[in-house]
Amino acid sequence: MSPPFGSRLAGKVAVITGAGSGIGLETSVLFASEGAQVVCVDINEKGAAATVEKITALFGEDRAVSVRADVSKEDDVKNMIQLAVSRFGKINVLFNNAGIMHPADDNALTTSEDIWDLTMRINVKGVWWGCKYAIEQMRKTGGGSVINTASFVALRGAATPQLAYTASKGAVLAMTRELAVVHAKENIRFNSLCPGPLRTPLLMEFLNTEEKKNRRLVHVPMGRFGEAIEQAKAALFLASDDSSYMTGTDFVVDGGLCAAYVTPE
Ligand code: NAD
Repeated sequence: MSPPFGSRLAGKVAVITGAGSGIGLETSVLFASEGAQVVCVDINEKGAAATVEKITALFGEDRAVSVRADVSKEDDVKNMIQLAVSRFGKINVLFNNAGIMHPADDNALTTSEDIWDLTMRINVKGVWWGCKYAIEQMRKTGGGSVINTASFVALRGAATPQLAYTASKGAVLAMTRELAVVHAKENIRFNSLCPGPLRTPLLMEFLNTEEKKNRRLVHVPMGRFGEAIEQAKAALFLASDDSSYMTGTDFVVDGGLCAAYVTPE
């Protein structure tokens, strides 16, 4: 990240889950560069702490704090929100971004109940807990912006199945839409971010051969995986007042994937 820095989130406090890697890491740094104080949350304590170190090195002290939380556990999520308020006084933005795609998640016949439940606990229940405790705080300050990370797989069926993951991301879209409508007059906005396939650890560890990568890339008109920073920039738009009249959207950032029938040679 190089200067000049912006001020699109000046004076705002943002909580970001999954801040130790990929989209959450890039978004934490970008939000801080735009003036936000950032609460970096991850189940991986070292990852979250490394993100805070990076922000401190770039932007100085008191710009970020790390919290270890497992978003599938209500008490952890309650604590993370309380810590944000006790440290920085309020919450303006919540990015419910932590999620998993388990290697043993497959089709209807081969996916085990354990994998299904684990995926739902983190990807769906974790988002619910975050929204629940953020709403309480955002009401006190007259509003806020919540961004929930879903996926393009919630919008398109894939012949390379991860059934629990796909179902969990569909649930994120439906839940976000309903939250947006229920809380619209309280000025709490809820939008889903639907990333396309990205060059982050989550997907690259899953697509561990050239053949697996190419099986996906042929469907992306731009012909490349996305970068985490490209999602962070979309999250910044949804977090900031630039998107003040947007709520309840499925915000797709996918290199054209969802628009395509036949892709360019
Ligand atoms: P990533 O694996 O690089 O980062 C995810 C982070 O979430 C990790 O730091 C991990 O420790 C953390 N995490 C996992 N379980 C957690 C839990 N229970 N509590 C707290 N933190 C937890 O992944 P990424 O690619 O940056 O993905 C971020 C989000 O974007 C996920 O919700 C993912 O489903 C979604 N997404 C990713 C892609 C992609 O291609 N990478 C595409 C669409 C959607």
